[in-house]
Amino acid sequence: MARVELIDISKRYGQTIAVDRVNLDIAEGEFVTLLGPSGCGKTTTLRIIAGLIEPSEGEIRFDGQVVNHVPPHKRNIGFVFQSHALFPHLTVAENIAFGLKIKRRPKSEVQRRVEEMLELVNLRGFGSRMPSQLSGGQQQRVALARVLATDPQVLLFDEPLSALDRNLRDQLKYSILELQRRTKKTAIYVTHDQSEAFAISDRICVMNHGRVEQVGTQLDIYLRPRTEFVANFVGDNNVLAGSVVRVWERDGQRLVGVRAGALELHAVDTQGLQPGESVLAFVRPENIEVLGDGIVPEDEPILDGLVEQVVFEGPTVRFLVDVGGSPVRVTASGPQRLTLLGSAGRRVRLRCHAVVAVRHHEAGART
Ligand code: ADP
Ligand code: MG
Repeated sequence: MARVELIDISKRYGQTIAVDRVNLDIAEGEFVTLLGPSGCGKTTTLRIIAGLIEPSEGEIRFDGQVVNHVPPHKRNIGFVFQSHALFPHLTVAENIAFGLKIKRRPKSEVQRRVEEMLELVNLRGFGSRMPSQLSGGQQQRVALARVLATDPQVLLFDEPLSALDRNLRDQLKYSILELQRRTKKTAIYVTHDQSEAFAISDRICVMNHGRVEQVGTQLDIYLRPRTEFVANFVGDNNVLAGSVVRVWERDGQRLVGVRAGALELHAVDTQGLQPGESVLAFVRPENIEVLGDGIVPEDEPILDGLVEQVVFEGPTVRFLVDVGGSPVRVTASGPQRLTLLGSAGRRVRLRCHAVVAVRHHEAGART
């Protein structure tokens, strides 16, 4: 087990900045996921932690000790890749024993450990099979067992499930989480799949262009995005450009009134916004409530719109509503959705919940 710290880590390849001043402090036993689009620097960051890539700048610390010059095999890490690369000519048991044999552990210990690991990944009795006699999910569990066998202090995962089909991914992500919880190891997991990141992480680190955009819990990332990128990347969001017209506080939370064209919205502010600033207001389709007739919320702006499109998707109904010339997407669920099915062409009143305002940077102005 170990605390892992990245301090101002950068990696350059010629003109390309793969990782740009990344700071991250991962607690002992914590499960942190690096989430971001392809090419944002996740793998490079992970391989720097593993010692497979040397950073251009910055420090990596394990339990407070700088490990920049410690080679990978002395960092006591376990690395699980997308392609698990089991040795095809070795049995399951021999695959799991591989790392222990390299470490020259006594035969009886190796045998005991292999049995323990097979038990741990629910593959008891599979030791004498060849990898080709296993399903994709079972093979990936053997790969996990092989990594865990040497009792690494830090587990690193680079998109370990992305080669598997959806059902298997859904099962295995929980197996990985359960194994991590049971072994209490620090885990750093890379994925571009947000549902995976949301399902298994203690904290998520959203990356973009080599930089950390935001680090936080699922709720932080989903409900309190701190940058335009995070608000756009995670989930579905309506975005309205406007400016701050007033600022106030309620229950210790800073709120801002945002005027966007003819509309006004009340939004949460996490950036210390000031009146007059240009902002983007984000509101998720599932956080917009279609108000019944006669309901008049106090001191809250209501959006008035014309329903242009209704799409029935079974458990949810999606609406496209024209609000003063801006298209707003609304998702309704629960029994109310059924009463709204015939609302195309009708006027509706919308109440927006959990609106977030984020400073609007002009293109290229960000430093
Ligand atoms: P991710 O894992 O998030 O998809 P990577 O860490 O693999 O992203 O890559 C980040 C950026 O660095 C990309 O633009 C990629 O092209 C570049 N990059 C990665 N490795 C090298 C390399 N060995 N040489 C040059 N550029 C690289
Ligand atoms: Mg990658």
